[in-house]
Amino acid sequence: MQTITILGATGSIGASTLDVLARHPDRYRVYALTAHSRVEELALQCERFRPEVAVVGSASSAKLLSDLFRGKGLNIQVEYGESALCAVASAPGCDAVMAAIVGAAGLAPTLAAARAGKKVMLANKEALVMSGRLFMDAIAESNATLLPIDSEHNAIFQCLPRNYGRSMPDHGIAKVLLTASGGPFRNRAIETLDAVTPEEAVAHPNWVMGRKISVDSATMMNKGLEVIEAHWLFGAPAADIEVVIHPQSVIHSMVSYIDGSVLAQLGNPDMRTPIAHALAYPERIASGVAPVDLALIGQLAFERPDLNRFPCLRLAYDALLVGGSAPAILNAANEVAVEAFLDRRIGFRMIDRLIARVMDRLPGTDVADIDDLLVQDRHARDMAHSFIQQGTS
Ligand code: NAD
Ligand code: MG
Repeated sequence: MQTITILGATGSIGASTLDVLARHPDRYRVYALTAHSRVEELALQCERFRPEVAVVGSASSAKLLSDLFRGKGLNIQVEYGESALCAVASAPGCDAVMAAIVGAAGLAPTLAAARAGKKVMLANKEALVMSGRLFMDAIAESNATLLPIDSEHNAIFQCLPRNYGRSMPDHGIAKVLLTASGGPFRNRAIETLDAVTPEEAVAHPNWVMGRKISVDSATMMNKGLEVIEAHWLFGAPAADIEVVIHPQSVIHSMVSYIDGSVLAQLGNPDMRTPIAHALAYPERIASGVAPVDLALIGQLAFERPDLNRFPCLRLAYDALLVGGSAPAILNAANEVAVEAFLDRRIGFRMIDRLIARVMDRLPGTDVADIDDLLVQDRHARDMAHSFIQQGTS
């Protein structure tokens, strides 16, 4: 029996994880579920999965959740705030952690799970993008197991040799090929992109996801963050990470070997596949995902990404090449820009302009530790906010 903490249980990845867990009550038990503000939803999940602990974002949410539990006669410990998230991610009572909080808010608890030597199932790519080497060092020092949930990285993981040691040349690997759907604006006239609405941007053609990652997919910052994620997970130099547009989202990514072989992982676009893979690894369990019907799909297409259409992808490669705190600065500026776009305070094309402007002013430096990193993250956010206020981004 494996005990699981789900950080961000009420999100898209959290709900898909619970769906897979519900299919295997003999293998998994939920230790803790966390949510930020959707308290009623979390209460329903708790009623069904009976965790030992539930964590929410504030004292008032905690009071509401306790009242709901009392009404239902449930005896579940209720906590709130970042230290409680870190506690349930590192508690002796949990074996594995699904890191599925969105954005930088997930860094501290995900890192706590890594430091505690847990099996870390990483969906929260922003945490790794921000902390890079510090995160990978924490995993190595505590002998934690790190398994990628992001569908591309999970695919690459499945196409790598089992004994892969994060050195591509040692295993005859030439490149990792990250596939990208191209999002909802792949074919839209560039001059009309300024006018797109948040509703259009979050309407992804192939995947149903949270709002922030959906906007990131529309700008292709999501792929940029994934390039940085691949660098850290697989020890891949930026030059050996290639992005390929593949609109059908059937091939989830590939590994290209020096003998000319290219290994790919295919499947329907449904996050329950990588989630089930990571939960059961190295075994396999059913996920509820229908088998892929290639004849029905008919054709698989590929094209190169257009960096003029998607400047965020270029910005992410730039940040990776600069290194140090540059990816954290990129991520912080992006989080502020996406939130402002979703709130209709800036237009779609302002997202990349704002990030570029913050990166120009804050070039990124070496970082000694997480506190150092968080200072730079704060600084980048403040600068992005002030550019938005000035309206001159
Ligand atoms: P979502 O918006 O649907 O859910 C986010 C979860 O995080 C919610 O449970 C929410 O309560 C919690 N949360 C939000 N802000 C918080 C805060 N400040 N403190 C604590 N908890 C907070 O997002 P999602 O689509 O499930 O994505 C989650 C993560 O997984 C992201 O990092 C995303 O990039 C990554 N990811 C998602 C998908 C997908 O298909 N949805 C695929 C690959 C990677
Ligand atoms: Mg992905």
